Amino acid sequence: MPARILDGSRIAAEIRAEVSAEAQKLAQQHVQPGLAAVLVGNDAGSEIYVRNKVRACSEVGLFSQELRLPESISTDELLRITADLNSRNEIDGILIQLPLPKQVDAQKVLLSVNPSKDVDGFHPMNVGYLSTGRPGLVPCTPAGIMEILTRSQIPIQGAEAVVIGRSDIVGKPTAMLLLNANATVTVCHSKTRDLAAVCRRADILVAAIGRAGMITRDFVKPGATVIDVGINRVSDPVTFERLFAGNGRREETFRTKGSVVAGDAHPEVAEVAGAMTPVPGGVGPLTIAMLMSNTLKAAKLRRGIAC
Ligand code: NAP
Repeated sequence: MPARILDGSRIAAEIRAEVSAEAQKLAQQHVQPGLAAVLVGNDAGSEIYVRNKVRACSEVGLFSQELRLPESISTDELLRITADLNSRNEIDGILIQLPLPKQVDAQKVLLSVNPSKDVDGFHPMNVGYLSTGRPGLVPCTPAGIMEILTRSQIPIQGAEAVVIGRSDIVGKPTAMLLLNANATVTVCHSKTRDLAAVCRRADILVAAIGRAGMITRDFVKPGATVIDVGINRVSDPVTFERLFAGNGRREETFRTKGSVVAGDAHPEVAEVAGAMTPVPGGVGPLTIAMLMSNTLKAAKLRRGIAC
């Protein structure tokens, strides 16, 4: 039987509706959570990401401000901007869109964001809260993965979870969240020996690698849940054929646009897994929904309102 498809778009819509309802309740207390999105330079991809985040804010009733800054900005100038945003009461969340230009000390800038407004959950203070099980702001993509699992009634407690990828943004926080939810967690990376055998132990397999279709059926225990975090643009015809030959819809996109977006899991995984997230439409939509949710949470935490 083919895997149950875990519809991230539907779950993200559910979360956005919940955030919107909560924002309406806060409005009665004259609080409107606000997000500042800092965009440096003219990177087309970053512009689209920021535009989507700002639009999502207005759809759920959050205040947002987009700060567009020149590519030539210095570290000190950016630090003055984060200091100003830290001090403004109507701003609950500060998002620094990455990457920053080469001349900017990105680590210094990220560290300068007040941890209580760090809606990306990247600040070491929030990383520490997560690893010690204290309330704080959790990175959006890993938080979204947990929402997919819990809202799809995938059992986590006692499950064998394998996370492939150990980035600060996805792999490590996902592993920590699964551990906090009482899974038995293994983290894999590029130096892991016999990766497929380790992955086959997993009841929950999270792939956050960035390699199109690397996870084939021999990595997956029959019936396992596969969370595919990868977002890979495939423009090479050989890779396209390996992944999507015979898929009419994808072939049409490839023909007209010259590329398609693929996850880290090969489509054949759906023949073995019990449940799986699609790409696109799986983890991706959760990332922005969780940013909205984090902004709301930051507004409440800062004002001592119960979350
Ligand atoms: P990253 O920082 O490049 O980390 C990739 C990880 O994969 C590293 O830990 C690396 O191991 C590991 N890896 C690479 N090749 C491997 C191999 N052959 N075998 C085993 N492990 C391997 O990437 P990231 O930022 O975590 O992102 C991962 C993917 O998720 C990307 O496709 C990205 O676009 C996507 N993503 C999606 C969302 C979303 O909203 N859906 C959000 C963020 C990221 P080493 O540490 O040993 O190098």
